Amino acid sequence: MTELTQLTIAEARDGLTNRTFSATDLTKAYLAAMEAGRSLNAYVLETPDKALEMAAASDARIAKGEAGPLEGIPIGVKDLFCTKGTRTTACSNILGNFVPTYESTVTANLWRDGAVMLGKLNNDEFAMGSSNETSCFPGPINPWRRNGSNVGAGAGGIEGSYLVPGGSSGGSAAAVAAMLCAGATATDTGGSIRQPAAFTGTVGIKPTYGRVSRWGIVAFASSLDQAGPIARDVKDAALMLASFAGADPKDTTCTDLAVPDYAAAVGRSVKGMTIGIPKEYRLDGMPAEIGRLWEEGAAILKDAGANLVEISLPHTKYALPAYYIVAPAEASSNLARYDGVRYGLREPGRDIVDLYEKTRAKGFGKEVKRRIMIGTYVLSAGYYDAYYVRAQQLRTLIKRDFEEAYAKGVDAILTPATPSAAFGIGEKGSADPVEMYLNDVFTVTVNMAGLPGIAVPAGRDAQGLPLGLQLIGRAFDEETLFSVAAVIERAKGRFPVTERWWG
Ligand code: GLN
Repeated sequence: MTELTQLTIAEARDGLTNRTFSATDLTKAYLAAMEAGRSLNAYVLETPDKALEMAAASDARIAKGEAGPLEGIPIGVKDLFCTKGTRTTACSNILGNFVPTYESTVTANLWRDGAVMLGKLNNDEFAMGSSNETSCFPGPINPWRRNGSNVGAGAGGIEGSYLVPGGSSGGSAAAVAAMLCAGATATDTGGSIRQPAAFTGTVGIKPTYGRVSRWGIVAFASSLDQAGPIARDVKDAALMLASFAGADPKDTTCTDLAVPDYAAAVGRSVKGMTIGIPKEYRLDGMPAEIGRLWEEGAAILKDAGANLVEISLPHTKYALPAYYIVAPAEASSNLARYDGVRYGLREPGRDIVDLYEKTRAKGFGKEVKRRIMIGTYVLSAGYYDAYYVRAQQLRTLIKRDFEEAYAKGVDAILTPATPSAAFGIGEKGSADPVEMYLNDVFTVTVNMAGLPGIAVPAGRDAQGLPLGLQLIGRAFDEETLFSVAAVIERAKGRFPVTERWWG
């Protein structure tokens, strides 16, 4: 029955509606694929009993003609989303075996719409990272391989043979690409949906800040965090976002704007649209294949009747440094709650301060500690004005750049999604964290400005690995992104993993 896992969400919905197969059949096919794919470390927790129970309930609803929009669709959940009664760790030892007594709004919306939970997916610890190597669990492996590379061969063992799926939503991207779920939840603070999507040939959208409720999602940097889907294609991403989005009285930053029919935007013409090409995204030393990919993407949109215009976003170069002040500042505050008293891990100490120190020393990983220290520093008296205030001012200027472009009639902006294809496990960032941070050079601007951004696969590098393009939209205009991304998808086709080598 494994071929059922090849179906997109849209196709699976048709099969379920026509009773070609049942939700239980579909769920069983995914559970078998997950078992065969365990070596990819995409899941940190499989929930087969819950999945089968939810699938049976879906079958009953389908029989009664009460199917929801995602009825019977098996979904993987990033382990940053709190799931009631199911362990939620943010892939940090400090959360230990934390079992939430509440459900995040995003996952509650999915279950309301009939989706089935397969399990919890790997991610960077507290979503801090670009390779999923900061997880407290063994890191997920990209189902894509470089041409001719032989898994397991060579003295390098895992390092060198296997590629990262990107991060922080690496488990989500690996699971979707390897067909270990029909779609996955993900979050994006600086690129964590779009970069892993680009590294795995999948589609990922970070919606406008406020489009999706953050309630019940483990917080990293609250003014930047936004949840969105990673899916096999543009239409599936649209179907999932329609379920995620909507007003939530539990999150005051979440808008009550009506949720459009995103799937209806897929296939809509882009004729007459104006697409901006920002010159500041042409980086020195950018690989030629990324430049080519970008030009090809622009040519596709031009052929489809869009007008291409060069635009300038002059404050782009400040986005990454400003992000690495704002995000750690907010993280240092958000992570203060992990004190050994309220959640998860507790290391006993002589007194309360000793307990805090021992718990935090043991529970947090290296990258998380680095962020807490940077964040505490930039917020401290004497440095606050020099760093934090300056970074927030730059953020305003970055946002203004986009507003000016949109005011001149630009409908969406086309850029590369990442400066390279997926890299090897252990290959980046161990000596210099900035090397890793540079992965997000094209994506962080979008979080700083609170805008929506989608990554869509658009080509391959010289070694056969997928590469993605990014489209950035006006606030709350995800529909345009779906329409434009679908044009690229139609021209370039989908990017399924070429070889299923993992079992
Ligand atoms: N890679 C970026 C970081 O480490 C972004 C992560 C994210 O979007 N969650 O902060």
